[in-house]
Order: sequence, then C-alpha cells, then structure tokens
Amino acid sequence: MNDTRNVLTPTVTPLVKKPAQELPEAPFVAGIGTTGEVHAIPHLYAARALGAGARRESGTVCGARAGVHREPSAFDRAALPRWASVCPPCAWTVAVETRTLDRELQELTPTGEHLAALTRLLDDPLIVRHVCEAVIAGYQSEADARSEACMIAALVHATRHAPVLLQPYECITGDCDHPDGQCPADVACATCSLQGRSFDSEPDGTFLEICTITAPCQVLITLVGHLGLPGCGIGAPGAAHPEAARP
Ligand SMILES: [Zn+2]
Ligand SMILES: [Zn+2]
Ligand SMILES: [Zn+2]
Repeated sequence: MNDTRNVLTPTVTPLVKKPAQELPEAPFVAGIGTTGEVHAIPHLYAARALGAGARRESGTVCGARAGVHREPSAFDRAALPRWASVCPPCAWTVAVETRTLDRELQELTPTGEHLAALTRLLDDPLIVRHVCEAVIAGYQSEADARSEACMIAALVHATRHAPVLLQPYECITGDCDHPDGQCPADVACATCSLQGRSFDSEPDGTFLEICTITAPCQVLITLVGHLGLPGCGIGAPGAAHPEAARP
C-alpha cells in the first residue's frame, strides 16, 4: 500500500524567529554589548529578547544593554574564548550566583610566558588573584547581603586594575630581532592609564606616554595594604580612613 503522507507534508520551511527554547540550558546567556564586551544575560531576559517582535536586545546582570547572538551560547567562563573581553561586574556576579568563584579566580591567574614576564616585573605576579582571594575570605568570615554586594564591588575594582603587559608592537607580532624571551616589556594598569582611540573612539590597545600608570597602581596598593597581604612587596599604608564617605 502506498503511503502518501509525505505528499501532504509542507516542503517549504516557514520563516520563523528562533524560539526561546533554543536557548542553552544555562542560567545565564552571553550577550555582546555596544563596545564588544561580553555580558551575562539572565535566561528569562534572553528568552524575552528572542520573543516574537523583540529586537534581540536585553538588559544584563550589570545593567548594560546587550544583544543576544543568533546562536545563543551560555555565559560559561570555560567556554568563552580567552581573548574575549568579559565584563567584570557580570563575571563576578555570575560567579557568586553559580558558586564558581574558583573558576573566576583562575581567569585572573596568568600562566606560561605571560606569567614568566610578569614574574620578572612584579614582586607578586599573582597580586590580583591574591587580593581577590583575601576579599572573598573576608566576606566568608562575616557573610551578609550587604557585604556580598561590597565583596563583588571590591572584586570588580581589583580586576579592573589588574596589571597588563606592555610590549612594542613588533615584539607582539614577532617581527623584532630580540632573542627568545628577551623582548622589552613593561607592566601597567589599563584602567588608570590613557589609551589611544580607534575611529569609533574605543580604546585601541596602545598606551599613551602622556599617562601610562605603572602597575601595581594605587588602587591595588591600597587594597593590598588594607587586606594586610604579605609577600606583595607593598608596605602597609599610612593613615587610612576606611569609613570615609563623600559629604
Ligand atoms: Zn556586564
Ligand atoms: Zn589602576
Ligand atoms: Zn622583541
């Protein structure tokens, strides 16, 4: 007996928007902000952004607006590429929510040649990791809702002032004549320093001599002093006013 059911089956796939069910089974979805930074979008927000008539744009964990990719992926640190510029407030908030603080600390831990170069330039090449570990330990010893927000703010602050390696352009591209491992390098704070701007006025990765701040910058020095971290090569600060507030 001939089965004619196939004849009746529509052969044209209708043009439909991707249903929200195609979102990854993850509490947070990756979204791209206007400056290319990767933000975390709560699953429910992402589902709404993919709904009928929606603009695929959504609010994010840190409050920025971000677009949901046509093939949405989870905001998963292990899956995001190393070169991705990940928003620190989103990253640390998700780490707290998903209990993946260790994974986030790993992101702050330089390895390989990067670690070797930082070791030559800094007393403690893991200074930011050590600061963040001390901040987390302080929170865990007196946990409450207010201090969780304070903890995330401190972790974000430290992360934004992490030392970055500076090298001449030809050394980065491998076009220099320096022997292996002997390229000149310096270490600076990207947040405190002034960077050149590309045509769309975003930082282009070059550091301007007019204001390049050596790392560890005053932010890290202050955090290390208040947290009382040994081994970072930084003495305790002078008079400190931890409760000072703006009038
Ligand atoms: Zn964000
Ligand atoms: Zn700084
Ligand atoms: Zn070189």
